[in-house]
This record gives sequence, C-alpha cells and structure tokens, in this order.
Amino acid sequence: MSNLSEKELQNLKEQLEKEAGELEAQFGVVSKTPEMGSDVESDFSEEADEAEELSNNLGMQDTLKSRLQDIEAALDKMAQGKYGKCEKCGMDIEPEVLKANPESRLCKMCKA
Ligand SMILES: [Zn+2]
Repeated sequence: MSNLSEKELQNLKEQLEKEAGELEAQFGVVSKTPEMGSDVESDFSEEADEAEELSNNLGMQDTLKSRLQDIEAALDKMAQGKYGKCEKCGMDIEPEVLKANPESRLCKMCKA
C-alpha cells in the first residue's frame, strides 16, 4: 500500500471518480470497457503518420480516452489496494504527485 492516509486516499478516489464522470460525459462513453494493455506506444508513431488525416476532434477524443483509461486503471488499483505504486520501479509514488495528478502511474524519478 502507498504512504497515503485513508482520508487522502478517499479524497483522491472522489477526485478520480468525478474526473472520470466528466470525461465520460465529454466523450459520450457510458459503459464501454477500455481495451486494457492496448498498444499505447506504437499508437503514438502510427498516429503521427495519420495525424494529417485526422480531425482535431478525433485527436481530442484520443486524449480524453487515454485520460479516462488512466483514471479507470487508478481506480482499479485502488480497489485492489495497489494504488500509489510506480508502474516502472514499483516504489511508492510521492503523495504530492498523486495529489496534483491522481491518475499518475509513475513516480517523480521515472517520469523525469
Ligand atoms: Zn518509478
């Protein structure tokens, strides 16, 4: 478990749920399950090529979708008691990082 207090965790959870709700409203997705482990990295270069063909609107949808997936992943981890661990090095993510950005997946060091 992370070095967050029960109360801080609860606050972050509420923040995440609120954000997820707002994003879903923007995105128009209600009950679609995100494709977990989708090719996030290769997506990036492919999208660069297709970028010219894509409208801004589509790019916006992608941004919303990936943020929503991050938030859902964070909520998932909370449910499993694994929240607050860096996905890269396995260390606790600094509380100030989580407070600024509750869906963070990486600690300060790995992000840098
Ligand atoms: Zn790390």
